[in-house]
Formats: sequence, structure tokens, C-alpha cells
Amino acid sequence: MTKNLDWLKILLQCKDNIRRQITPIIKASQKSQSNLGIGAGGDPIKEIDLVAEKAIIETLKEHITSFTLVSEESGIIEYGENPDKNFLTIDPIDGTTNVIRGIPFFATSIAVSTRPALSTVHTALVADLFHNVTYIAQKGRGSYRDNSRISPSENIPLEEAIIGIDLNTYKAEKIIPKLTRLIKKTKHIRHLGANALEICYVANGTIDAFVDIRGKLRTTDMAAAWLISKEAGAKITSPEGKPLDVKLAPQNKVAFIAANPQIHKIILKTIENPEKEKL
Ligand SMILES: [Mg+2]
Repeated sequence: MTKNLDWLKILLQCKDNIRRQITPIIKASQKSQSNLGIGAGGDPIKEIDLVAEKAIIETLKEHITSFTLVSEESGIIEYGENPDKNFLTIDPIDGTTNVIRGIPFFATSIAVSTRPALSTVHTALVADLFHNVTYIAQKGRGSYRDNSRISPSENIPLEEAIIGIDLNTYKAEKIIPKLTRLIKKTKHIRHLGANALEICYVANGTIDAFVDIRGKLRTTDMAAAWLISKEAGAKITSPEGKPLDVKLAPQNKVAFIAANPQIHKIILKTIENPEKEKL
């Protein structure tokens, strides 16, 4: 029995189960968008997140009795007698706001690791739930978009690069000065609202970089995309260029730059020396 192969199968089954269960909610939300939003009791935001989480747990329990769940929704939950062998770090729905506003860009994110540490993630899945496109990776075996091996873009001048930047923060005045030079040099800035999926877009060269230096993104949101981008050949580091090795916990947050290796180098320089005129 190949451990990795089995995990992949389990994660794909989790994804299928989520899609089955959330499709009616998405259809309902598209019919009555104006009634959706924040609200106590029956809050559709929570409903879809919890349905997706339940679907993941249901499928996991069909295959394994013991594991530790590290979830954006429910926190850390131990199942079975040996929960410290397998850690499942999940963000059941990444991009919930997109779901409720009818923007077709949201994902589920599942990472399997041997310890609650990012560096031990060995199998990962990020699934674009609207378009049913799935990104997977296994440590040492590359990354795939559905059945095709993926790799990041190459040889793109910074001026032509498509760069995702997450600026959603209450400390905008602190991070924007660091990014001004990058923003000035770039013609194509994007942020689509589901960071795990945007990191996968870097992994397969759809976009050239994704920059989130806010320090606000939960580790549960990026654990799977981290492995997918690394295995594809993209670079994903701290804003200082250091490897990301963080504890996987719902409260733990990270700042990072993910990019093709050439653009990554340039972005690091622009962030280190925001005042310099020339790269
Ligand atoms: Mg979420």
C-alpha cells in the first residue's frame, strides 16, 4: 500500500463529496443573492463552510480512524486513538465572500502532514469548486492540474507580469509603502479573493506572482497551496526570502511571496529596497 497514493485518492474523494453537498447551496445563493450576507442564525456564510467541513470529515472517517484535524472552522480536533500520526489541515471554503456574491472563484484546501508543521506536508489538494479543476501535489513527485503536470511561468519582464497582491488589511499604511515600487513597475495587478487558488495559479503559470505580506493569512489557508507551488517549481518564501516553516494551527498567520523564481528574486529586491529607483 502506497501511503501517498492512498492519501491522494482520499483527498479527491473529499473534494467530490464537498461538491456534491455544496452544489444545492450555491444554486440557492445564485437565485437569491440579495438575501445573503451576514446574519445571525442560518447565516449562509457559515452554512456553506460547515457543510464543506462536514463533507471532508465524513470522507476522512470512511478511510481512517485516527487523525488530527486542523480546521479554519472548528479549530484542532483529535479523532481516534493515535491522532498524532496524521494531520489534516483544511480550509473547507477559501473565498466564501465570492460564493455569496456570485463570483465564481472559490476553493477547498486540504493538506496532509506527519506533524503540525508546514515542512512536513506531504500530500496536498486545492480544488476550484466552481470549475471543478483540481490541483494536487505529493512531496517529491511534482504538481498536477487535473491530469497535467504543471510548472510556473518563465522569462517574464516585471512590467508584463501578472501579479496578485492581497491588500485587504487594516494596516494598509504599514504594508503599502513596501509595495509602492512594485505596484508602479507592474501593469497587471490582480486579487481574486481566494488565496489558495491564486497560489496554484502561480504554480501553473496562469499568473506570475502572488504577494501577501500582510501577515494575516492563516496557515490553514495556504498549507496545501504551499506544497503545490513548491512541487511545481515556484518559489514561496517569507518576504525576507526565508523558507516558510510554520506551525500548522488555525490562529497561526503567515506573510509570503510566491512567484516564478525569476520574478520572485525581483519582487524580493523591490520590497527590501522600496526607495531605490532602479532594480
Ligand atoms: Mg475558509
